[in-house]
Amino acid sequence: MLRTLCVRPAGVQAVLLRRWTHNIPAIDQPLNFINGERVEAANTDKTQEFELVEPATGKVLRKVQSAGKGDVNRAVAAAREAFDVWSDMSGMERGKLMTKAAQIVKENEDDFVKAEVIDTGKPIWEARYDIQGCTETIEYFAGVAPTIMGTHLPLPGGSFAYTRREPLGVCGGIGAWNYPYQMAAWKSAPALACGNTMVFKPSQLTPITAVMLAEAYVQAGVPKGVFNVIQGEAETGTLLNLHPDIAKMSFTGSVPTGAKIMANCAKGIKQVTLELGGKSPLIIFGDADLENAAKGAILANFMTQGQVCSNGTRVFVHTSVLPQFLDILLEKTKRMKIGDPFQEDTMVGATISKAHAEKVLGYIEIAKNEGAEILYGGERVIPDDPKLAGGYYLGPCILVGCHDDMTVVKEEVFGSVMSVLPFDTEEEVIRRANNTCFGLAGGVFTKDLSRAHKVVSKLQAGSIYVNNYNVYPVGVPFGGHKMSGIGSENSLESVNHYTQVKSVYVEANDVDCPY
Ligand code: NAD
Repeated sequence: MLRTLCVRPAGVQAVLLRRWTHNIPAIDQPLNFINGERVEAANTDKTQEFELVEPATGKVLRKVQSAGKGDVNRAVAAAREAFDVWSDMSGMERGKLMTKAAQIVKENEDDFVKAEVIDTGKPIWEARYDIQGCTETIEYFAGVAPTIMGTHLPLPGGSFAYTRREPLGVCGGIGAWNYPYQMAAWKSAPALACGNTMVFKPSQLTPITAVMLAEAYVQAGVPKGVFNVIQGEAETGTLLNLHPDIAKMSFTGSVPTGAKIMANCAKGIKQVTLELGGKSPLIIFGDADLENAAKGAILANFMTQGQVCSNGTRVFVHTSVLPQFLDILLEKTKRMKIGDPFQEDTMVGATISKAHAEKVLGYIEIAKNEGAEILYGGERVIPDDPKLAGGYYLGPCILVGCHDDMTVVKEEVFGSVMSVLPFDTEEEVIRRANNTCFGLAGGVFTKDLSRAHKVVSKLQAGSIYVNNYNVYPVGVPFGGHKMSGIGSENSLESVNHYTQVKSVYVEANDVDCPY
């Protein structure tokens, strides 16, 4: 059990989690975490609360207090004060504390996994995979921390220059709801390794595991104030974004919100990393191993109820193998069990919210009206268990008869909707794959590696998979091209995004000056 750092204050109602009463005190305590502890928001006005709904059941779990201006100021001030201590430590010291935090998360893995399932409605095996993989991110950057260094540059006459790679200061992080723990870990780990401190705002739909991570950092000995979590919606995010002591924003979410974040950063000339939406192509050539290609197409479309930014939702299939590919794909998709996310064999859990499920169903309706044919799925499924009746479970949807001008083929649906698009030539498919304002990811299935690399070089996207899809090893940069974003997360690349270079000139001789 994760030791919680504060006792529930009087007056905060305990929340009974019904069937899923997991004894995770982390869930029903205050969810703003400032200067090393869970705190009540200063603004206790009830209008400053939002409801936390459990996707699996559709029931309201609790109310969460939004951080108002005073709370955001308090969090940024705590991070500002902690910055002096944290940035003064050696990388080795920071790395050791981060390694310990990762260890604490591992010791409490079950609680993290359950909290993530409660928050997101995703199948438990996926949540476990997310927690384990993203804890590796913390370990990776703990190892990177002592290696962050500048360069030495010889100059004439024994003079020299050197560069220092310095932290930026207090960084702001804002996350989306599909991978809540991942967002908190992918942003905090490189930021903290580089000596920055952070104020992080998770999505209002998934506020829990970021706070559990904050507790783990503090329990590991990371100084109070180094990683703070504030809760809220757009208003809280804007307060954070505009705060004058924020040196950089790292944002994951939709393109329209990303544009607002960037515009606000421009006002303060703040650095910004944007991880935004996508409408990625997955290309299956005629010589591909169709069994693997079908698996790849499912990984590229149906994980986390299809709510994955890098999904390859435009599946281009060579006409010579289209019927065989669809047979295998259909057979595998039909086997995906839909329902209780806490069952280990569940493959499709609940969509994040009623509103989002309706949006996804709306796209399917438009697709039908525009001439697409539903090969499979695309409807609401009500599981037998009456407790799940209020959740929004959607059957993974395969659309055929699609063409490039359809709304569902052009816009990001962010749900389990795969559009299958036949093609004939390599040149044609590259042109069609790139015909989008997005550029997050893409995939190629073929046995011909020279073709694979030729196509890869032409695809306009930040992450391309050859004969696989949607894997994210921490050592590999992840980020978007075009309107899918700016900058990268993961890997040594992100050190560049969380540090700034200072050049130091050192004169070894008399000053050469005519004055
Ligand atoms: P969203 O843009 O609606 O919200 C994202 C976050 O921004 C939330 O925390 C929200 O509260 C906050 N926010 C909203 N308006 C704000 C404002 N004006 N100022 C500051 N903060 C504000 O996105 P979402 O619905 O949470 O997530 C879905 C989107 O995220 C999809 O487009 C998806 O592709 C994208 N996404 C991208 C990646 C990536 O790595 N590229 C990963 C996951 C999700």
